[in-house]
Amino acid sequence: MLVSYSMRGEEPVVNEALKVRALPEGNYDKLLEFLRLYRDAVQIIVDRIWDIDEKLSWKKLHRLFYSDLISMSFRAHHAKEIYINAKSLVESARSNGGRKPALRKLSARIDKYDYKLDLDNMVLTLKLHSDYEARLKLIASRERVEKFRSWSNYELVVKYEDGEFWVSIYFKRAVRPLEPRTVMAIDLNFGNVTLAIYTPDGRRVRLKKLNTPHKKILTHKIWIEKIQKKYPKSWRFIKGVRRAIEKHGERIKNISWDYTHKLGDLVAELALRYHSVIILEDLEKLKENNKKGRRFNKRLGLWFYRRIQFCVEYEAMERNLQVAKIDPRGTSSKCPRCGGKLVEDGYRVLRCRKCGFVGDRDVTATINIYKKYMSKYSRCGVPGVAPNAPKPDEAPSGMQGNKNEAMTTES
Ligand SMILES: [Zn+2]
Repeated sequence: MLVSYSMRGEEPVVNEALKVRALPEGNYDKLLEFLRLYRDAVQIIVDRIWDIDEKLSWKKLHRLFYSDLISMSFRAHHAKEIYINAKSLVESARSNGGRKPALRKLSARIDKYDYKLDLDNMVLTLKLHSDYEARLKLIASRERVEKFRSWSNYELVVKYEDGEFWVSIYFKRAVRPLEPRTVMAIDLNFGNVTLAIYTPDGRRVRLKKLNTPHKKILTHKIWIEKIQKKYPKSWRFIKGVRRAIEKHGERIKNISWDYTHKLGDLVAELALRYHSVIILEDLEKLKENNKKGRRFNKRLGLWFYRRIQFCVEYEAMERNLQVAKIDPRGTSSKCPRCGGKLVEDGYRVLRCRKCGFVGDRDVTATINIYKKYMSKYSRCGVPGVAPNAPKPDEAPSGMQGNKNEAMTTES
């Protein structure tokens, strides 16, 4: 599954790919021939543009290669897809400092003008070179396909791997985001996730702390490390040992997916109820800023937080909610009232030496996230920047008890 947002003018668009197996109806020699021709054509163009240093515009590519490709019996949009494909292969190989790409796999990107997709009957008709056609039966359950019926599709990729055909269909739909009335700030930590909902004038209407399953995940990680330490050279080769490691790995995967799905759902449901825009911290920036690994356990890894964000964003998108990211710099070290430096003052409590502000560290982080968002995104005239910071000193709900519960329910 692939989800991305892109802005087309003012209208946000959601893209998602559906990958399914496809069975050709009847003889598929022509389809294979097409895939080979396509691959070879991409290779020819890669070879020819590899040594050209100047930046190649679409126009130039078109001028250089279009008529050659047409004379190879490709259709107009095949030609376009082929040189676009070659260009992006060359660019990504160059940016990775790699060698000139040598294509082996059979895979073709096909424009919407060159296929017909019939979701009712799950049949895909591809237009090939020399006016040949191929019909493929798509193998996917009703439920997987159902949601895409109202989406539009614009492109697909056909692949032939290990004797099987696969099709990835790219769908998109316009999102009409809900006009937010409140702001939900989310602070991710090693042991918990704190979310707080603020009104535009800085009042907090909801506060919630949820524990993460970090202890369970770490327990399995420690087991894996112990086993690897015991068999430092051989663990890969002894079947029983490898299987034990895999079992712990499986558990980690299940625990984290299960948790992040539930969390994403819960967060988005709450945001929907309060018409919130959801504010997350930009994890990429966090990696740059944060050399000390203050908040995130290195052993647990950033992947876990990325996965949480992915699920939150996905569930938000499904409900037409807006998501924004802010630079996390300073969100848990700066005083939200005066901007002074916060110091630890007991367990998970921070104090400002300058103005005397005292607050729970996670709640304080949500205030800072909220304020950052407001100062970045709210314009004059629109509900303004909160003049005074919300009070951080009330105990958040769900904080008491249930220490071992990964998912604390609302109080
Ligand atoms: Zn202060």
